[in-house]
This record gives sequence, C-alpha cells and structure tokens, in this order.
Amino acid sequence: MNVVSTLRDARSALLPWREAGETVALVPTMGALHQGHLALIVAAQKLAKHTVASLFVNPIQFAPHEDFDKYPRQLDRDKQMLSEAGCSLLYAPSPEEIYPSGFATSIDPGPMATILEGVFRPGFFVGVATVVIKFLMQLMPDIALFGEKDYQQLLIIRHIVRDLNVPVHIVGVPTVRDPDGLALSSRNSYLLPDDRHRACALPRTLTESVQMIQQGKNIENVLSVGRNKLISAGFSVDYLTLADAMTLKTSSSARIARSTIGGGASWKYALNR
Ligand code: AMP
Repeated sequence: MNVVSTLRDARSALLPWREAGETVALVPTMGALHQGHLALIVAAQKLAKHTVASLFVNPIQFAPHEDFDKYPRQLDRDKQMLSEAGCSLLYAPSPEEIYPSGFATSIDPGPMATILEGVFRPGFFVGVATVVIKFLMQLMPDIALFGEKDYQQLLIIRHIVRDLNVPVHIVGVPTVRDPDGLALSSRNSYLLPDDRHRACALPRTLTESVQMIQQGKNIENVLSVGRNKLISAGFSVDYLTLADAMTLKTSSSARIARSTIGGGASWKYALNR
C-alpha cells in the first residue's frame, strides 16, 4: 500500500489508474480503525479496482468542548490494518494540507443538517460536509463508501452530491456490531468496562422499540418507554425519535407509521448517544 500525505502525491498515485480507465473507491475515515471501517474497505474492493482510504481527524467538525485533542490516533496500526485489508492507497494529509492559510469556504447541507444530531452538535454536519466534498473534489473517486452507523451523515452526503452534481456514486454499508449488539466505534475506547457493559442498553432498546412499533403499539408510548429504559441504564438521552429513512422527517403518528411500514417503505429509529 502506497502512503501519501499531500494532494500532489495522491493525484500522482491516482493518475496511472485513471489513465488505464480503472475504477477507484474512496473510504474517508478519521482513523483509529476497527472492523467497521474494514467492512467499508472490503465493500469497496468488490465495487472498484482500487481502494483509497483517507485518514484525517477533521478539526472543523469538532466543537470547542468536544474531543478533538484526545480523539484516538494510531497511524502505524491503521496503516497495517489497511494494508492487510488490501487497500491500495492511504491518503493521510496534515491539517495545513486540507485547510491552508486563508481557507474560507464551507458547505452548508441545508435543513437536514439542523435536525436530530444537528440540534445537539451545531456546525458538525457543515464540518463533515466541507471535508467530504473537499476529499471528493481532490481525489475524484468513482465511488465513495460511508457507514450506515452515521445514518444522518450518509443521507446528507447523498443529498449534497445530488444537489451539486458531484460525479461520484455514494454507497452505504451496514453497521458492524460487537456480538452484544453495540456498534463498533473508535470512541468506544473511551468507555470504562462498566460503561461498556451498560452501553448494550442502546442497541437493545432500539431493537425492542422497533419491534413494538411494528406490532402496532403507540409510537409516543414506545419512545417514552425507550427513553426511560436508556435513562435507567445510565444514559443521558438527547433524543429518541422515529424518522423516515429517506427524509429523516419525524413522525409520532401510528397511523402513518403503520401504513408506511405496510407500504414497504423503510423506517428507522435514529437514536443517538
Ligand atoms: P469515522 O472514522 O468514525 O469518521 O468513520 C469513517 C467511516 O466508517 C464512516 O463512513 C462511518 O460511518 C463508518 N463506520 C464507523 N463505524 C462503523 C461501523 N461500526 N460499521 C460500519 N461503518 C462504520
């Protein structure tokens, strides 16, 4: 695997593939890789001849009180994992390479970035959108893959790519979980053993809530019970909401939810933290 840290070197590495008409898939990451990231690399390899991973802890998507400084960084281990997984190129730029002095442009993804997670992390999706569009413009992959774990992020990126006619195909990859149901996440390393144990209440509550709604139970009651279960497990709940899987519009109407499920559209619990 070729490892580069500048745009110039990344483009040089991509050029022969482009000239040969070979397809390129991009997997953007912030590093501290785990099997969830590797599932994206594996999916990428099935869809394109060459897989490129980017590794960049994006400062502009962190609020001042968030964990930018302590976000786990383990470049050597990440390189090893990507190489073993068959990744062709790792692009790991410095902050100056991505945001040179005078950088002033940002991508505002619109209303979808101001609901759900966007309410609790203002500016987060602007930071994500700006860096993702920047990587897409820099590397011009044919395909870019994103995890369904960050479902709102996946939909927002699809939306921007459609709105701006960015010539890339966006692919979502199902969430990889530990055997007890907890989604793999680089930030799980922050959890002490006791917290890690309690964290299983999150996927369990989501699954149970979905089952109850599918059985026709009152949505507001189900959500209220779900919030209480999470609080009892030690969570501080920002929101537990039923949202349309395509638009993220929320609904508390059992009639709409049932008819939508019956109509075959997919609904999803967006929970969070
Ligand atoms: P991150 O390094 O957290 O920015 O994640 C990079 C990409 O990996 C994003 O598209 C995430 O949605 C995806 N990802 C992270 N964790 C998982 C997981 N457990 N399963 C599937 N995809 C994941």
